[in-house]
Amino acid sequence: MSLQYKRYDAIVIGSGAAGYNAAIRICMGGKSVAIVTEGINTGTSRNTGSDKQTYYKLGLGGDAPDSVRKMAENLFAGGSVDGDNALCEAALSARCFYNLCELGVPFPHNRYGEFVGYKTDHDPYARATSAGPLTSKFMTEALQKRAEELKIPVFDRQMAVEVLKNGDGACGLLCIDTESGEYSLFCSSNIVMATGGPAGIYADSVYPECHTGSTGLAIMAGASLQSMTEWQYGLASVSPRWNVSGTYMQVLPRFVSVDSEGVEREFLLDYFEDKYEALSLVFLKGYQWPFDSKKVMSGSSVIDLLVYRECVLLGRRVFLDFTKNPFGIEEIEFEKLSPEAHEYLAKANACMGTPIDRLDLMNRPAIELYAGKGVDITKEYLEIALCAQHSNGGVAVDLWWQSDVKGLFAAGECAGTHGVTRPGGSALNAGQVGSLRASQYICERGNVPLGDEDFLAIAEKAMEYHKGLTACLNNGKTADEKIKEAQRRMSDAGAAIRSSEKMSEALSVTLSELKSLRSSTLVGEKSELYKFYKLRDILITQAVVLYAMIDFSTAVGGTRGSALYTDENGDLRQGLDSVFRFKGADGEVNRKVQSVSMSCGKINAIWRCVREIPSEDSFFENVWRTYRESRSVY
Ligand SMILES: Cc1cc2nc3c(=O)[nH]c(=O)nc-3n(C[C@H](O)[C@H](O)[C@H](O)COP(=O)(O)OP(=O)(O)OC[C@H]3O[C@@H](n4cnc5c(N)ncnc54)[C@H](O)[C@@H]3O)c2cc1C
Repeated sequence: MSLQYKRYDAIVIGSGAAGYNAAIRICMGGKSVAIVTEGINTGTSRNTGSDKQTYYKLGLGGDAPDSVRKMAENLFAGGSVDGDNALCEAALSARCFYNLCELGVPFPHNRYGEFVGYKTDHDPYARATSAGPLTSKFMTEALQKRAEELKIPVFDRQMAVEVLKNGDGACGLLCIDTESGEYSLFCSSNIVMATGGPAGIYADSVYPECHTGSTGLAIMAGASLQSMTEWQYGLASVSPRWNVSGTYMQVLPRFVSVDSEGVEREFLLDYFEDKYEALSLVFLKGYQWPFDSKKVMSGSSVIDLLVYRECVLLGRRVFLDFTKNPFGIEEIEFEKLSPEAHEYLAKANACMGTPIDRLDLMNRPAIELYAGKGVDITKEYLEIALCAQHSNGGVAVDLWWQSDVKGLFAAGECAGTHGVTRPGGSALNAGQVGSLRASQYICERGNVPLGDEDFLAIAEKAMEYHKGLTACLNNGKTADEKIKEAQRRMSDAGAAIRSSEKMSEALSVTLSELKSLRSSTLVGEKSELYKFYKLRDILITQAVVLYAMIDFSTAVGGTRGSALYTDENGDLRQGLDSVFRFKGADGEVNRKVQSVSMSCGKINAIWRCVREIPSEDSFFENVWRTYRESRSVY
């Protein structure tokens, strides 16, 4: 193996919305930068969307009073959120949003130029906006165009497999070519991870299939993660992966489960005696999309639990059927629905027909979307599950989005700046702000790269693990098979429903898989070697996430956010299986942050108080003087 390498002031890992923005800002700050990506066209931003994909920003239209402080407080109110990150995400949201507008993202405005917004979940103001179902795709494409204009080098099909370190922090990156299996080296002491959420840990997932994430890369580099217990799970179709929020639920489809013999049942009736109560809750799922433990005892989240019960506990497949009204009802008596559902459907003139008639009337593009992906929901059933959509936690970062490994930054979904809940759309804002912050720091205070000799010595030592790897990966199951098993294990034990027993079992299997990884994995071709690294990343991330969840259940012993920790002495919504007993967590825990890390194969969790929202001197002359003397990075 000849050790040749490229040298840059900074390397960005990932070509999603956060990665491109980081590279653009670093380049505009006068530093040399390159992007390495496992696939230019991969990633969540480029390949996902929803009914109305939302971008959350400061109020920039209308007469509702808004301020940076108020927005920071709303982000902070999500619980287990650090106030300095929340303040930055609020303070820089307008700048990042306008940058995207200038780059050509078609965010709608009125003829006076006001970017009028709407309310999203956990949003007391109308701060949300959208460029349609593909907002994040438009963002990525606009940013990519700008990066190309700036001639930022992009190394495609390069999967980062190790962050190289010296005593002082990050000093380089080792990548593998996902076609040839050849390694490449980069020397840089400023590395921005923009690798997206750790989607690959789950089987039931609405992340695009091409995206798995690489949070294990940060864990192996010794960086701490935080809030890894906090995710968003919700109902989504599994093929194609798309979340079935909004009108898909408001038109009241049938929920059908099918067992291994092909026998069908409308399982909602196992639970509900009143058909119209069931339909009213299905309607609510339209805009109460993520599973929310606060809505279990008396709200719409019971629908998520009933779907989970069929899929995971009973091993059946669950489908939506839009072709007939539920429960054998010929004509729905809409006035028997909840007033909210009735009023909405009446206003839309949709108190008629079958679910597909109503969908055709209210949102025909929703039918066309599936048709474009090969599923004709006017005739076919649509398979769904309770799926993972977003990781609120991630790499723990400071106010410059630098991890606790010097020179290793994280931006976008791989950074852990959200807590228990977050306003819809704030992930896309956080990705733009985080990448800007990391870039500002790198441009003003970034680390100087190592000299050739020092770098080569470190690279050579690191290569010892990787050299000859292909030769020993010739035993047992293939990496693909092992990934599938690991994802299934995680969706069954460590997703929306978490029992201590199942999580402990899953953790112990995951750790033993990790232990025997090199001796029990089969990789046929050198060109498939990257799959071994993918498997390793998934298992390491799963181990840390499971550990975090188990620690949460022992240290806190309750339920919060988008997950339910089962507790045999807890409360049970009447009529549900007793496995769904739970106790609400004490709200005080939201003032703390759980941080997890791995060192020499041992995982450790600690709890610390949240960093409060800073209150600094905002007298202009004083801020100006400090800015003149120390620029913006201090
Ligand atoms: C169905 C769905 C709907 C959503 N709706 C919304 C919404 O309405 N509003 C909102 O704010 N958020 C939403 N989100 C979340 C949001 O889309 C993501 O958080 C965001 O797009 C992530 O962007 P990113 O740039 O951080 O990562 P990504 O876009 O995922 O990009 C990651 C990049 O890193 C690369 N990469 C990963 N690992 C490696 C490696 N080891 N080496 C090299 N390259 C690597 C990938 O190839 C990819 O290019 C939604 C998510 C889903 C799944």
